[in-house]
Amino acid sequence: MNQQLQELDYKKVFHFFSEISAVPRGSRNNTAISNYLADFAKSRDLKYVQDEYENVVIIKEATPGYENVPAIILQGHMDMVCEKTNDCTHDFLTQGIELYVDGDYIHADRTTLGADNGIAVAYALALLDDASLKHPRIEAVFTTDEETGMDGAIGLDVSALQGKYLLNIDSENEGSLWTSSAGGLTSTCDLPVNRISDKGVKINIAISDLQGGHSGAEIHKNRTNATKLMSRMLFELRNYVHFGLIDMMGGLKDNAIPRDAVANLVLQPEDLEEFNLGFEELAKNIKMN
Ligand SMILES: [Zn+2]
Repeated sequence: MNQQLQELDYKKVFHFFSEISAVPRGSRNNTAISNYLADFAKSRDLKYVQDEYENVVIIKEATPGYENVPAIILQGHMDMVCEKTNDCTHDFLTQGIELYVDGDYIHADRTTLGADNGIAVAYALALLDDASLKHPRIEAVFTTDEETGMDGAIGLDVSALQGKYLLNIDSENEGSLWTSSAGGLTSTCDLPVNRISDKGVKINIAISDLQGGHSGAEIHKNRTNATKLMSRMLFELRNYVHFGLIDMMGGLKDNAIPRDAVANLVLQPEDLEEFNLGFEELAKNIKMN
């Protein structure tokens, strides 16, 4: 490892991690943490840009001898996912995270820790704060609302950036480096629906308690997507019997594999037996996980 990195006082990383943990910084609640970062830059006489999306870019010029080395962009997101246990009264809008150390691990008291992506912010601040390091121009980019659509990154004012190399510090595995990344896409489809009034037997189909998981990090594990499975079942059921679709719902979040889906159908009483046969036949061919 580079000698300078070995000498870098890692305790500073945790110092800044605990400082930013004291600032409420759930997604869509960026103002306090954004201002904290701006104040960090101000108090160290570092150039910074705080844009209308509350992103903060902090620039630290190259140390003597490194002026001709390409600038490096360090990037992380300042927002975190706010989840807590049922018995926890923590208010994410106003309170900082309660940290505690157990062995080699830092934990939070019954809330999410915010290491995603607080650790990136802490790394970058530790580097920016260290006057003894020799380095090229550092451009530290802290974006907002990554967890809820990457809105900060989309609206980022990049005019201050000169670097061509960007290190995104949002990998989840220690010791791993990614050379590229999957993108995310939200699409909205409007399908024309023809509503008619009908009489018959109402059938409710529910798929529930599947494993779910992250649509990025766990998409390769072949977990069943409840919405897709429901669609496939309804599509194939049409081969057995005619029915009307009253409504259908599935999934809760854009970036989670749907664990549950429900559909309500209406069919004629005389078709019920055929429907049940078809349903059982289909269910035999489905293995859910
Ligand atoms: Zn992240």
